[in-house]
Amino acid sequence: MGRFCYKCGTPETEGGPLIGGMCQRCFASENPLLRAPEEITVEVCGRCGAYRVERRWWYPENPTTALLEVAKRITISKLRVAQYALTRVRYVKVEEAELVDVKIEPKFTPAGPIVEVLARGKIHESQIRSQIARAEIKVCENRVLCDTCSRISSGYYGAILQVRGEERLPSDGISKIKDRLMSYFFEKCKRDHREFVSKVEFVRGGLDFYLSSVKLARQGAAVLKSELGAKIKETAKLVGWDRRGRRRFRVSILARIPKNRLCGRKSLTQQK
Ligand SMILES: [Zn+2]
Ligand SMILES: [Zn+2]
Repeated sequence: MGRFCYKCGTPETEGGPLIGGMCQRCFASENPLLRAPEEITVEVCGRCGAYRVERRWWYPENPTTALLEVAKRITISKLRVAQYALTRVRYVKVEEAELVDVKIEPKFTPAGPIVEVLARGKIHESQIRSQIARAEIKVCENRVLCDTCSRISSGYYGAILQVRGEERLPSDGISKIKDRLMSYFFEKCKRDHREFVSKVEFVRGGLDFYLSSVKLARQGAAVLKSELGAKIKETAKLVGWDRRGRRRFRVSILARIPKNRLCGRKSLTQQK
């Protein structure tokens, strides 16, 4: 006696080959090819436009296409595809679904950004026809502050670079130093998004830069040393203990510009 589908009773000779006791039609309707979320949430920094990708912050070169790129990556991480393994259907990641072709297309629509997913393929090798599944995932944006921007907005700084002269610095000299260092720091911060300038203060006869790290303060001091012959002195003051009981220091770096280096008509970068 032949076998029958346990769901609908169709004989295997008509609706087979049977998969897990079911005819071809029942197997396909019992097992959707795709599991997709209705919506995904993209976290974007409302201040600088960085996107959170997995656990890290990504600072895109092209902000217009960045949302779609991030939406696609999040979709790939959330999608699950049906694949028969050993004795049952399992839902696996896109890259593990060998019998299924998945197309993922993020796009802007008048109703907002979406991700379209089209999957075509077989869950089980014995299926005669491929299954098809479509999904349309809504993309929601959640505005937050990235790690760097939340540090800046809390007024955090890791070191101070103090610029002074052997004699009181002339005010046009101070402006030149400020411009030179700010453009230097701007380039550094563009390459490493953990670094930032928290604030700059004009003080009597000089300037104070409040910076994200000791490293950045040392680099700024090195510029003043090589371009103006500044003498560098570093001091660390104990300011407390961290949660693990280690001592925390606030580092100040003093860059003292020698006499007469900022006089005359030569610009800062021409002086060597
Ligand atoms: Zn059936
Ligand atoms: Zn930010």
